[in-house]
Amino acid sequence: MADKQITVTSPLLPPLEEFMPYLQQIWDSKWITNNGQFHQQLERALADYLGVEYISVFTNGTLPLITALQALRVTGEVITTPYSFVATSHAIWWNGLKPVFVDIDPLTGNIDPDKIEAAITPRTSAIMPVHVYGTPCDTERIKHIADKYGLKVIYDAAHAFAVSRNGKSILQEGDISTLSFHATKTYNTVEGGALVCHSAEMKAKIDHLKNFGFEDEVTVVAPGINSKMDEIRAAYGLLNLKYVDQAIENRKKVAKFYTYQLQSVKGVSLYKPLANSFDQSEIRFNYSYFPIFIDEKEFGMSRDELYNKFRANNILSRRYFYPLITEFSPYKSFDSAAKHNLPIANQIADSVLCLPMHHALTQDDMERIISVIKD
Ligand SMILES: *Cc1c(COP(=O)(O)O)cnc(C)c1O
Repeated sequence: MADKQITVTSPLLPPLEEFMPYLQQIWDSKWITNNGQFHQQLERALADYLGVEYISVFTNGTLPLITALQALRVTGEVITTPYSFVATSHAIWWNGLKPVFVDIDPLTGNIDPDKIEAAITPRTSAIMPVHVYGTPCDTERIKHIADKYGLKVIYDAAHAFAVSRNGKSILQEGDISTLSFHATKTYNTVEGGALVCHSAEMKAKIDHLKNFGFEDEVTVVAPGINSKMDEIRAAYGLLNLKYVDQAIENRKKVAKFYTYQLQSVKGVSLYKPLANSFDQSEIRFNYSYFPIFIDEKEFGMSRDELYNKFRANNILSRRYFYPLITEFSPYKSFDSAAKHNLPIANQIADSVLCLPMHHALTQDDMERIISVIKD
């Protein structure tokens, strides 16, 4: 293993020398958390950058999901997808609610709107879809169903930072959308996240809920959580925002290269929404992931064999999402988690492999990755 290790992701880090003056300011002010100046600046800067009106930053991307369900007073059952990071279902569980799993669309990996209605019961009060790999869900169909049955819609938009459709931010869809700014995501604040809503009243409610439910110094209005972003990470986030467009451009080049190199490899299918987007697309992608799908018979090797071959070549790929959420012990026993209820999700989880994808991959790195697949 002479070659250097290629990791599946690499954090976008702002230049350290630019960060130092911010740290100096924080040290001078001695205001290190609790809605400080950088926290306020970051919320304004993100609202501007993302094209949304109301955004509240959090310590990670899981707590805004939990808080969204609490703020919307969701009860009973929540319709969601098994093809996501486990935090999506955990947020439902943490609110004492029951996740009901619905199969996915084979093209996008997003929840299949055709299968949502059949899963609605008198106890259903919300839908929690995920914009998988940053590809927008069929938000129009989902809204139509939600309106018909009086359901709330909370989008887990952890993958969809800066994604827009026809110039409109995807974060404007649903009652609430949430973001993750974890180190592995396209834009990071080390750990962090945010919640986007559509009214000043809701933003005020969210801001109380992420601060123990405090409305003012002496009034607690709800059993809130502590999920406030500190000043150090807010300052880091402000800086990283200056570099994220360039990072997305770099990722796009990687995605184009992979697409060109892999489009006619037998047994390898590309992720169509992305692969078909380069000439013209109504969607602005952020290129957060580059999933491929392995057909064992045609490719002559299973997905897991390819994953291991990458490892043997000191390259880390990621089976994302695998296993499905419904394979994990807290969720396995739900009726809706049964394999026969989720044939597409199971098939995709068993064939998917995400190639290394980040802003700092070099031409050499990409060629090494492609040659492992082609040789
Ligand atoms: C990363 C991620 C989360 C959780 O975000 P954290 O910031 O790690 O808490 C939730 N949902 C999805 C789909 C994610 O990818």
